[in-house]
Amino acid sequence: MRNSEEGLRGRVAVVTGGASGIGLAISEAFSETGARVAIFDLDEEAGRRVASGLDGARAFQVDVSDSASVCAARDAVESDLGPIESWVNNAGISDPELARRVAAAGSVQGAGPGAIPTSSLRLVDDEMWSRMLRVHLDGTFFGTRAAAEVMAPRGRGTITNMASICGLVGCATAPHYSAAKGGILAFTKAVAKELAASGVRVNAIAPGHVETPLLTLGEAARRRLEEDTPAGRLGLPEEVAAAAVFLASERAGYFVGATLTPTGGLVTV
Ligand code: NAD
Repeated sequence: MRNSEEGLRGRVAVVTGGASGIGLAISEAFSETGARVAIFDLDEEAGRRVASGLDGARAFQVDVSDSASVCAARDAVESDLGPIESWVNNAGISDPELARRVAAAGSVQGAGPGAIPTSSLRLVDDEMWSRMLRVHLDGTFFGTRAAAEVMAPRGRGTITNMASICGLVGCATAPHYSAAKGGILAFTKAVAKELAASGVRVNAIAPGHVETPLLTLGEAARRRLEEDTPAGRLGLPEEVAAAAVFLASERAGYFVGATLTPTGGLVTV
């Protein structure tokens, strides 16, 4: 099936975090199918820049962790572009400050038989924890609810939530990110079961390590990751975007509450 035959031509697709990295690749991939893309991003300027290069696309400044902001943009899309058929909850953040604290703490706390491995748990403060959950988990909930409110009465639509391998297997030094992504996976499965009967399909993607501005790796860490990954390299944003377009397409009609895992074999589930 060629891009133009995905069944998305002329349809309206919302992509949160669509101004950078994986979201940018998803916006481009949807646009290639002939869909009209609404980019919801905190970074207004980057959103506008991306939208200006895509046929029929529009950018909206949205904070996904603020439900009023999400609903206002949803309503603007529905009146300006038409009924929303696909919605990808992709916006996300990393936590460079925690990475800095972990690096500064070294690999062990104390020395000798009583030494304990450095636990990032003690380095995550309350605000780091809740910010991570607000953007990823609250953001996915607000986006899913806003999408379902308009899709379910029409009896059609797809919602795709961006998780991560950290949500599948847990990533050391990222307990809050892992918790948020694991929560997204469980949430996706729960609402997928509820919404399937109203013609709305909800699924998730749990990528491995992907070359985007979010992934900041030193040379040694990058080499280690490439060696550990059976594919021998990190993933590309367009390889994740292909999964997002597939899940939104009519070909994916029997995918309900599923998790697609483009990981290069790093995690196989
Ligand atoms: P990125 O930093 O390149 O892009 C994230 C985008 O989200 C940015 O445009 C940013 O402005 C936007 N954003 C951040 N907070 C927002 C908010 N509150 N409201 C609206 N927009 C907001 O990152 P990426 O690597 O493309 O990540 C996209 C998604 O993929 C994230 O959910 C991330 O957790 C997930 N993911 C990334 C990787 C990876 O290795 N890059 C792996 C697995 C999962």
